[in-house]
Amino acid sequence: MPKDIQTSIDAAAIRDGVERHLQYSLCKDAAGATQYDWRMALSLTLRDLVVEPWLASIRETYENKAKRVYYLSMEFLMGRLIEDVAINLCVEEKAREAMEMLGQDYAAVVADEPDAALGNGGLGRLAACFLDSLSTLSIPAYGYGIRYEHGLFEQHFENGEQVETAESWLAQRHAWEFERPEVCYPIHFGGYVSESDGKAIWHPNETVNAVAYDTPVVGWQGKWANTLRLWAAKPTKLFDLESFNRGDYLQANAPESLARTISRVLYPDDTTEMGKELRLKQEYFFTSASIQDVLRRLQSQGIALEDIADHAAIQLNDTHPAIAGPELVRLLADVHGMAMDKAIETARACLSFTNHTLLPEALERWPEGLFARILPRHHRIIEMIQETHLFVTGSGIRIIEHGEVKMGELAFIMAHTVNGVSALHSDLVKETVFSDLHAAYPERIINQTNGITPRRWLYSCNPPLRGLINETIGTDWPDDLEQLTALRPHAEDAAFQEKFRAAKTANKERLAQWLKDRDGTVIDPAAMFDIQIKRIHEYKRQHMNILETIALWNAIKDNPNGDWTPRVKIFGGKAAPGYVLAKSIIRLINDVAATINGDPVTKDLLQVVFPENYNVSMAELLIPASDLSEQISTAGKEASGTGNMKLSLNGSPTIGTLDGANVEIRDHVGAENFFLFGLTAQEVMERRQQPGYARAAIEASPHLPRVLGQIADGVFSGGDAHRYDGLLRNLYEHDYFLVTCDFDSYFDAQRKVDTAYRDTAGWTKMAALNTAGMGWFSSDRTIGSYAKDIWNAPSLKTE
Ligand SMILES: *Cc1c(COP(=O)(O)O)cnc(C)c1O
Repeated sequence: MPKDIQTSIDAAAIRDGVERHLQYSLCKDAAGATQYDWRMALSLTLRDLVVEPWLASIRETYENKAKRVYYLSMEFLMGRLIEDVAINLCVEEKAREAMEMLGQDYAAVVADEPDAALGNGGLGRLAACFLDSLSTLSIPAYGYGIRYEHGLFEQHFENGEQVETAESWLAQRHAWEFERPEVCYPIHFGGYVSESDGKAIWHPNETVNAVAYDTPVVGWQGKWANTLRLWAAKPTKLFDLESFNRGDYLQANAPESLARTISRVLYPDDTTEMGKELRLKQEYFFTSASIQDVLRRLQSQGIALEDIADHAAIQLNDTHPAIAGPELVRLLADVHGMAMDKAIETARACLSFTNHTLLPEALERWPEGLFARILPRHHRIIEMIQETHLFVTGSGIRIIEHGEVKMGELAFIMAHTVNGVSALHSDLVKETVFSDLHAAYPERIINQTNGITPRRWLYSCNPPLRGLINETIGTDWPDDLEQLTALRPHAEDAAFQEKFRAAKTANKERLAQWLKDRDGTVIDPAAMFDIQIKRIHEYKRQHMNILETIALWNAIKDNPNGDWTPRVKIFGGKAAPGYVLAKSIIRLINDVAATINGDPVTKDLLQVVFPENYNVSMAELLIPASDLSEQISTAGKEASGTGNMKLSLNGSPTIGTLDGANVEIRDHVGAENFFLFGLTAQEVMERRQQPGYARAAIEASPHLPRVLGQIADGVFSGGDAHRYDGLLRNLYEHDYFLVTCDFDSYFDAQRKVDTAYRDTAGWTKMAALNTAGMGWFSSDRTIGSYAKDIWNAPSLKTE
């Protein structure tokens, strides 16, 4: 297929396709076409090219009766798709040429596409990378999620404070999806359960329909395409005609607006539990639709219900779809008449579960009363699952306890395999959150270290480095990323180094230009670009970074003629709207930026930039331009991280703690190419036992008393001495995330970075060895490992 696409499609054919779609799909003349029209016409043309491999993949899967992987995820952070599809089909240059023939700026057309931001951060982006790798590996798979009308909110700053507005990616037509009105399942809520002849019957009191929208996900070189199937909620009865005829128009629309609420918005928080009824409904809505769809497909292929685990592997991305266990049991037992014990066993053989967090507040729990009211039958089934579990294991661990339904325990008990997402994290899962269940099921927890797709996160976002790699080691690396190790012998070569630096500089200039165009911000590409981009959270410690910025500012002012290394500190990230402390950190960064950037003494040596509305597309611009990657979470709190992988792969060494996948990144790129600091996970746990550790650390620090004093004096808040009371009080009296304890070690590591960066050849070597060492972190490796260790799923790859 790839050879076909590459040879049979030329730029003129793409141009013709664009013209045809402009005329017949959009009904526009070239003269009257807007940027949106051109984008749509190009997208539909590329989509046409995907349809063939897509249908062929579906056909082949059916013919082989091959096992399919079902990846259930509440979030898919896809970003833009035009470039992604063009690159995977290997027609990027031809598409560019075609648009040029039509007098259009290809880059501008690509940039016109809104991000599909159906996720908060790392968890949703992981799901998107996994889909890319499943297709690249030709593993038959479906991604299942929710077609949110509004993705993650847009972030704006007003006087330095985060303000949120609704995101509306579906305000324009989404070019890539196919609506499937015939793929529609009823989803029930509420009511009661009766029993007759020992059979349970659920009488729900509310029903909505789940309607499928399919987007193709094409793999590298267009050899295979899988489906991302997103569910939209629709009313079972579109319109209440009786109310309308009475003149009650609001009431007439009530069924529609009630149903649509379920797929209306993405919850903008991935680390704290909100305990909202609507969230539980969203989770059940997409999980039930997906499981019904899986069963329908298996039955249409004539597969016996007791054999379904041979044909379906269902992966739960975090606990959000944990209701899949009881739902599958319900369908097997109540609808298809399987015995309860057998149904539980069969469901477990299909299901596996990925844990993503050790933050206890992020482990989902539902008030039992609420749960039983919304899902009365599932409540009863969970009690039966619990009984079986207690009986079989003799363990005392319950799913329902103290009036709460614990989704982590449910997901664990109903999965045949549970995985953590980095080596350290998987060990901590065994030792902390699930230690008791690990004792009851000692074989169940395994590790699968996360990965990222090299197509988007190197090939597509970093053309200068892509070119240098092609020229140096050939062009076979995008789906065999460990080939990057062949760059190692070149890391000290002067000519290679020259080109490596030129690539980095080109990316930095591109970023500088973008910032200037967008915000009028001017930054100097000759300075070190020091980047921390990720959700704003206390455990990620953006506040430690900004405190270090203040300490550095002080040090420069004390000795303005010292040997300083010019730096631009770049931040990006959103805070959950209800997370007060995270929002205070955002404001502090913006306040410090305003003060420091205006200081004539330091402005050529230190600058702080925080572009608003960080998303996948912004990440694609920032990451290739980074010199230094900030991965400074409190050890034991970042489950894996994937931003750390993207930055290192793009030749940006890390300053970081021994946390999440940092540990394995350091092993792969070499300890001498990684700036390590801070307490270990073990030391963190010990330090927390010492009373008054934060105050003691502040008093012992040569920097912190002055820095915190400046904030308290209102130096950065126009004299407002109370703006950061909450944040300061937290640091002095609580500091659960040990900013104060790691601060000095972090400051010292940053000075080592300064020194290292001034040695141009030494730094380039270090950066190149980061790129060369990161091949293992391809999500192709991760997915290959899931397929073998968890799913027992085949690849239908043909050469
Ligand atoms: C990769 C990515 C993340 C995850 O970053 P971490 O540093 O691992 O938290 C979050 N948001 C976006 C847009 C990403 O691309």
